[in-house]
Amino acid sequence: MKVKIFPLSIPFITSPISDWKDTWDVQLYVKVENNEFYGWGETLVAGSGIIGAYSSVITDVISQVLERQDFESPYDARILLEKILFSAGNCGVISGAISSVEMALWGLMARKNNQSLSELFGGKIRDSVKIYASFPRFNSVKDVLSAVENSITKGFELIKVHQPPSNVIESIKTIREKYKDVKIAIDLNSPFDLAKAQDFVNSIHKYEIEWIEEPLWPPNDYETLSKLAEISPIPIAAGENEYSLYGFKKLLESGITYLQPDIAKIGGISKFLEILDLASKYKVKIAPHDRPDASPLSLIYALNLGLSKSEIEMVEYSIADFPNDLFYSLPITKNGYAVPPDNVNIIETNMNKYKYSNKFRILYFSDLEKKLISK
Ligand SMILES: [Mg+2]
Repeated sequence: MKVKIFPLSIPFITSPISDWKDTWDVQLYVKVENNEFYGWGETLVAGSGIIGAYSSVITDVISQVLERQDFESPYDARILLEKILFSAGNCGVISGAISSVEMALWGLMARKNNQSLSELFGGKIRDSVKIYASFPRFNSVKDVLSAVENSITKGFELIKVHQPPSNVIESIKTIREKYKDVKIAIDLNSPFDLAKAQDFVNSIHKYEIEWIEEPLWPPNDYETLSKLAEISPIPIAAGENEYSLYGFKKLLESGITYLQPDIAKIGGISKFLEILDLASKYKVKIAPHDRPDASPLSLIYALNLGLSKSEIEMVEYSIADFPNDLFYSLPITKNGYAVPPDNVNIIETNMNKYKYSNKFRILYFSDLEKKLISK
């Protein structure tokens, strides 16, 4: 089997323009092919866009393994790669790199079986998947409000803000005063200690919040998370920075309400299916994470999982437009639901329009403010 990598920069244009415009234009796609069939996959390039690290894991090890051995099963490929690479840590860069290739093997298998992805995942149980509008971080409360207005116009009923601690409460208050019916979730990306998180939930509880996401630093302090879950009047969501089944088990035991694994980070779809199985023993809702940038590749797989797995409550969705000259078909959305194409198919001749641009990126997550690093 051959593995090709494609580092890309898909412009992240939202209305209004966000603080993350120059941070989320970094994508890593892979194509896996044998003599007859092919499949596409995507790695979420995290950590402020350290694309070279992910690319190196694929080209130095993964592609060479697949060149020497054909895999019928994405699960077998993942387990072998995890065993080869585990001393570098089966998380972050390693599991992210494995994700794209594992995902592409499902795409290839669907073509080989002449099936849609949802058929391959067990068959459709619904015709469309519930989605929510996940915002990037905006520079002002006014911009947050315009994004809410635009999302309501597009048919979304749930929006999620990513504002920093310095203006998130004001943003929520302003949204709620203007829009009584819109459902609001808050993604904090791990800024607070327990005391600050407690103060935070107590001060925003009155605005009727669907969930708060990753309230605590560090994100894998399960003990403190369970203390917060016990007293928080607002449901807690987490999981986009979790990788191992053991870690997911600890997270589930902490008492969170929404679990958010990302197939482009954890090691792919077979890992996701194992997490679904594990989660079935807990009272938790599954809401797959998908970075809401302008790249729909891993999202198409996540939505096809959503079509075929009843446990999936809803999928995170971007407010940016996807490039229609890079994909033969894109998800179609209506009234807060999405219908994905049957498989991922890329217009390869147009990939040079999205050449990767190498630049210094800092993702202003958590309590990092834009003024932190300046020239
Ligand atoms: Mg998040």
